[in-house]
This record gives sequence, structure tokens and C-alpha cells, in this order.
Amino acid sequence: MKFAIISKGDATSDKIKRQITHYLTEFDLVYDEKKPDIVISIGGDGTLLYAFHQYVDRLAETAFVGVHTGHLGFYADWTPDEVEKLVIHLAKTPFQVVQYPVLEVIVRFNDGGREKRYLALNECTIKATEGSLVVDVFIKGDKFETFRGDGLCISTPTGSTAYNKALNGAILHPSLSAIQIAEMASINNRVFRTIGSPLVLPEHHTCVIKPVNDVDYNITIDHLFLVHKDVKSIQYRVAEERVRFARLRPFPFWVRVRQSFIGD
Ligand code: NAP
Ligand code: MN
Repeated sequence: MKFAIISKGDATSDKIKRQITHYLTEFDLVYDEKKPDIVISIGGDGTLLYAFHQYVDRLAETAFVGVHTGHLGFYADWTPDEVEKLVIHLAKTPFQVVQYPVLEVIVRFNDGGREKRYLALNECTIKATEGSLVVDVFIKGDKFETFRGDGLCISTPTGSTAYNKALNGAILHPSLSAIQIAEMASINNRVFRTIGSPLVLPEHHTCVIKPVNDVDYNITIDHLFLVHKDVKSIQYRVAEERVRFARLRPFPFWVRVRQSFIGD
């Protein structure tokens, strides 16, 4: 089995990276950054997001596991003092894998049918570079509303505890193959009206947003920050691809939610 390790880059994370590399090579696993079967991220949830995007073209072949060197994370759920246990588990192939939905984003441009496709593990947000975001929102092909406000956040179930939660979105269990649309400060008065509640769409239901005016957009895909000009539409749906996590011990999602947000 081949493995790769992505460290946040601080002294503690780098030290754990050296330890794990040493242990796993002793167990005859091979360090391979190009084609790993398992990617171990050491740092925080942000580090795992980075790791996901490093290996986004190998989602079917790569499983992820996260060690946190700061606070407990949603992706990074192993503590540094569990590292030995983790290594022994990993060496005992085959390990169990759980698969979670990811978000497909297709940005289409006005010029000659050009498009860009992205996968997000947490979410995609869209804002105008200046002024309010004004877009028509289509759901399953039908115009749903004209949104006017700061922006929109379209998240995955595992991303629902991140930015989406700050927008009062619901926390979705990652066994649900769905995406969630949450508003950022919509303008609602006698002239402008939006639904106001977060919406959860099942698999195969697409959400398409179309600009009403010709402005540039700030689009984030997880931690990645992009500016797109000349946007014709942006399409969102549950991706065909899934993200795979090595499941080496039970750690129920709702326990993680409680420990992260409420405490023990
Ligand atoms: P960051 O500024 O360090 O991330 C903000 C916080 O979100 C960090 O505490 C991060 O954990 C945590 N986080 C990331 N994914 C999470 C998840 N799935 N569930 C619960 N918490 C999660 O930047 P970053 O580490 O590069 O992460 C990028 C993410 O930040 C974006 O995908 C977005 O979800 C989030 N964000 C949130 C807000 C907000 O809540 N108002 C605004 C902008 C961005 P770690 O410290 O372990 O990395
Ligand atoms: Mn972070």
C-alpha cells in the first residue's frame, strides 16, 4: 500500500509527519506522493481541504484520514497521541472506507461555450466583486427567485458545519446525498423577495444561478478564492464523485458535532 502525508507545516505537524512516515515504512508501506492509496493530513480541517484538492483527480483511488494538531476537526478527528494506534490500523489492510457526497460546480462563460468544473468538499460561495449579488436562481430548470443580497453559499453535508452553519444553515448528516443553499444577507422588502430559508436539494436536482447584471464574481471553492468575469451561469449539484475517508474506528457524526460545538 502507498501513502502520502500532507502537513500543515508547523513544527508539531511536521514532527508527526516524520513519525508516521517512519512507522509506516517500517510496516513496509511505500511513501508515494503521486499515486497514494491513503493520504494522511496533519493539521486542521483546512489542511484536509488542501489535501482533498491536491488529490481531487484521484478520489476513486485515494482515501483520506486526518490528524489534528490544534482543535478537534470534522475531517481531522485523530489526536496526535493516537498516532501509533492509527498507524497499526493502517498497516492492517484492508481498512474500511466511508464515502461522502461532494459538490459539483460548473461555471459557464459567455464566450464560446467555455466552462470550468470544480469539486468542493465544504462549499462554494458566490459574491459580486462590487455591490450586491443579483442573480436569478433556477431549481431543476424552473426559475425559483431573483436573489439580491451579499451572496449565496452552496454546501455539502460535511461542509454544513463550516461556513453554512454561520449562515444559520442546517447541519446535514453526511449519509444524505444532498446539497444545501444558504443565503447571505438577502434583501427582502416589498420589491425584492427571496425564500429566506436554507434549501436542501437531493441528488440529481440542479441549482443554476444566472447573473442579472454584468459584474465580476468572487467565487470560493473551499479555501480557494477565484475571480471570474463574463459568467453566463453557475450550476450546482451533487457530484458523481465521492470523497472517501478511511474509517478506522467509530466516531459518530453527531458525537463529533456535540464535541465541536457544545463540549463534553
Ligand atoms: P479558516 O479560516 O481556518 O476556516 C475557518 C474555520 O472553519 C476553521 O476553524 C476551520 O477548522 C473550520 N472548518 C473548516 N471546514 C470545516 C467543516 N467542514 N466543519 C466545521 N468546521 C470547519 O480557513 P480554512 O481552514 O482554509 O477553511 C476554509 C473554510 O473556512 C471554508 O471552506 C469555509 O467553510 C470556512 N469559512 C467559514 C466562514 C464563517 O464561518 N463565517 C467564513 C469563511 C470561511 P481548522 O481550524 O481545523 O482549519
Ligand atoms: Mn484553517
